[in-house]
Amino acid sequence: MEGEALSGAQLIAQALRDQNIEYMFGIVGIPVTEIAIAAQAAGIKYVGMRNEQAACYAASAVGYLTGRPGVCLVVSGPGFLHALGGMANATINCWPLIVIGGSSDRNQETMGAFQEFPQVEAGRLYNKLSVRPSSVEVIPAVIEKAVRTSIYGRPGSCYIDIPGDFVNLQVNKSSVKYVECCLPPPISMAEHSAVSKAASILALSKQPLLIIGKGAAYSHAENNIRKLVDLCGLPFLPTPMAKGVVPDNHPNCVAAARSMALQHADVIILFGARLNWILHFGLPPRFRQDVKVIQIDICAEELGNNVKPAAILLGDINAVTKQGLALQKSLPMNYYTVFHHIREMIPKDCILVSEGANTMDIGRTMLPNYYPRQRLDAGTFGTMGVGLGFAIAAAMVAKDRAPGKQVVCIEGDSAFGFSGMEVETICRYNLPILIIIVNNNGIYTGLDANSWKEMLKLGNPATCVPPVSLLPNSHYEEIMSAFGGKGYFVKTPEELRNALKASVTDKQTPSLINVMIDPQSDRKKQEFPWLTRSNL
Ligand code: ADP
Ligand code: MG
Repeated sequence: MEGEALSGAQLIAQALRDQNIEYMFGIVGIPVTEIAIAAQAAGIKYVGMRNEQAACYAASAVGYLTGRPGVCLVVSGPGFLHALGGMANATINCWPLIVIGGSSDRNQETMGAFQEFPQVEAGRLYNKLSVRPSSVEVIPAVIEKAVRTSIYGRPGSCYIDIPGDFVNLQVNKSSVKYVECCLPPPISMAEHSAVSKAASILALSKQPLLIIGKGAAYSHAENNIRKLVDLCGLPFLPTPMAKGVVPDNHPNCVAAARSMALQHADVIILFGARLNWILHFGLPPRFRQDVKVIQIDICAEELGNNVKPAAILLGDINAVTKQGLALQKSLPMNYYTVFHHIREMIPKDCILVSEGANTMDIGRTMLPNYYPRQRLDAGTFGTMGVGLGFAIAAAMVAKDRAPGKQVVCIEGDSAFGFSGMEVETICRYNLPILIIIVNNNGIYTGLDANSWKEMLKLGNPATCVPPVSLLPNSHYEEIMSAFGGKGYFVKTPEELRNALKASVTDKQTPSLINVMIDPQSDRKKQEFPWLTRSNL
């Protein structure tokens, strides 16, 4: 019969190459030496190691680092057994890996062959797939199946058993069952309703915490997780191998206060991390009894382990993070989000003036000062209405003593009302002042436009409008534009960033950014209730 003949070893090497395998680690001996030689000939980089266990660890790390499994090549019996640790480690770590083990010749099975051992059976406990091709001809199909299984769904290890007599057996190329390279792993997204549920849980949380696991690292979700952290101002904690997905020196990294962060979080978002021993099973006393867990994982069976989650998002972390980002853009902001962006974008050396209730309190913890005498606020007397006067004074003094310095005046909507007409003064003297109003439609808390409408139906506003309420969605920025300054009405983080950018770039023009936040947005729980004892 005409046609090119190929050995089993060559077929294995070519099939691995066809599946874009780049690295092989192992120790040669009977019967796998020819496979290593053929792999090199096929362009696969082969690293000869000194113990199969180390070879297997190496191959599994390639899988984590590249998303394409490395191959570990071992001999029969003891060689295979030495590699078990590597297979288990890869599968438990959720890392893709292919192990190719030589085994005894088929015709000596049960006879006490050299290093005979039931390798396929033994491999089952440690692998997603443990198989022996039924013939040399089907080797490419089995290798494709193993590579695909190792990277689809939750990644893990796959074992392929190669009887010694397959290695040098010659087969006709035309009889081989060739299979093309498997498609990249499918990227699944979470149910839309689950994403909305997660977003509303997050919106109501007072102490949210993002836990970033190595699943997030594996899914290359770094850019989108970073965006989510920045957009929502979320504190985050990386697990050991997820360090660096968002840099450790990011201001929202709470790794230095890990125990505190875990203990106090009311909502935890798990990005590809398991609630196993590393995270104290998600249980008290390391976690709150009532902690709400939003779990994101590619493996459905993982969802709900140890703690019943408040929302389950089955899907690829990067894809689900994108879904979250898209939704987040349409949700109202809270104080923490607003201050996060202000902190990032205002000049370090600006003079900060602030007054209001939550606005001043939360701003004090979230906005750092770097120089003395650059913060003016409601002060010892807790006076509302001082802000604009203080800002005008600071701008006048800075003009003479530190020309070019900007004054940033951060006001609650109620506080601003006490002396809002001084905007005219600011414009008359053309002072470099940026006023930011954090507007929650009220004193402490307000009503949204719909609740306001409902409220008015109840009768005379003087008897039914809550005393804490101010008119919803008031366009305070128009006071600034009325006098020739720049006014911005913003509702989303993106609009806020654009307005901040324009106002700090053109600091000579007086500006006012009216930032609408969720009227229900509140500060974190106070340890000392004497200041907040009203139950509003
Ligand atoms: P860590 O040790 O960092 O806490 P774990 O290994 O416990 O992380 O958890 C990683 C989780 O990530 C696993 O449950 C795994 O199923 C999941 N995972 C792996 N890849 C992805 C992915 N692309 N998308 C979503 N989840 C993933
Ligand atoms: Mg207010």
